[in-house]
Amino acid sequence: MRTITSQQIHRFFINAMVADALGVPVEFNVRDTYHVHGMTGHGTYDQPVGCWSDDSSLTLVLAENLVHHGNPTTLMQRFVAYLQEGDYTPLGTTFDVGSSTSRAIMNFIKGKPAEQSGDRSEYDNGNGALMRLAPLAFALVNEPTLTARLRQERDYTTTTHGHQRSVIASTIYVELLRCLLRGVTLSAALDTVHRLMAQCDFDRDEYDYFDRIWDPHFVQTPVTMIRSTGYVVDTLEAATWLNLTATSLQELILRAANLGEDTDTVAQIATCLYSAGHPDAQVPGEWSDQLIHTDEMDRIITEFADHFATTIE
Ligand SMILES: [Mg+2]
Repeated sequence: MRTITSQQIHRFFINAMVADALGVPVEFNVRDTYHVHGMTGHGTYDQPVGCWSDDSSLTLVLAENLVHHGNPTTLMQRFVAYLQEGDYTPLGTTFDVGSSTSRAIMNFIKGKPAEQSGDRSEYDNGNGALMRLAPLAFALVNEPTLTARLRQERDYTTTTHGHQRSVIASTIYVELLRCLLRGVTLSAALDTVHRLMAQCDFDRDEYDYFDRIWDPHFVQTPVTMIRSTGYVVDTLEAATWLNLTATSLQELILRAANLGEDTDTVAQIATCLYSAGHPDAQVPGEWSDQLIHTDEMDRIITEFADHFATTIE
């Protein structure tokens, strides 16, 4: 019988936060103009070594919200504390917040319902929802009903990203994570989610944007054809491709961080996929030792790990 242990969940969070922190100093750098070998500091946002960004902060918010049986409204209330008070951050201040996410939080403050706070423009298809959604896969791992899962995947996306392309990306990502957590291999998970998506009533034109990741030959795509921008389709493709081609977690994170552009988020999402499929994987100790820890982060991860440790049904 397969189990998800609290230790596995703890490793999952630390791996993802280290990947974020490793990518932060080189975010927006142009590919092949630099090389990262490990944890560094400063760079793009002049933050100290081990400093994690919005990806980890927003993930911690969702994790806490799920532990406390919250809903999209309480999620947005926590996002307000993040944006305005610096809660859920390593050093008490926010940086690297995406424009769609900050605009959605302002929409919520002005009175929009949480599930409708995300703008619906085609230009609001950054990876800001994708970067925080991994905890939802643990909450849904034993949820058998597709419609129930789709509703949560949608509602936890449209708080900040209301366009259908973002909802599709979130659905693919959370469903892939869920399959991997249940012990399915990545190639089988891609087949399963591809078939499952055909049962959803998304617009065909929007769904077609994700065609590449279902192609069995996607693994052979040269790195020059992999974009690593903050556009949600690029991010999901890059993270999937890294998982199809990397042979270890350490290699995957370094390759992600050296792709350029949205290095922290690509590394973080790729690492979540890898960790879901490799329950024992952990980042090198010399990296995790440098991660900035806060009491709040340790509390949320411990509560989440204890709450969502489970046996796969
Ligand atoms: Mg970031």
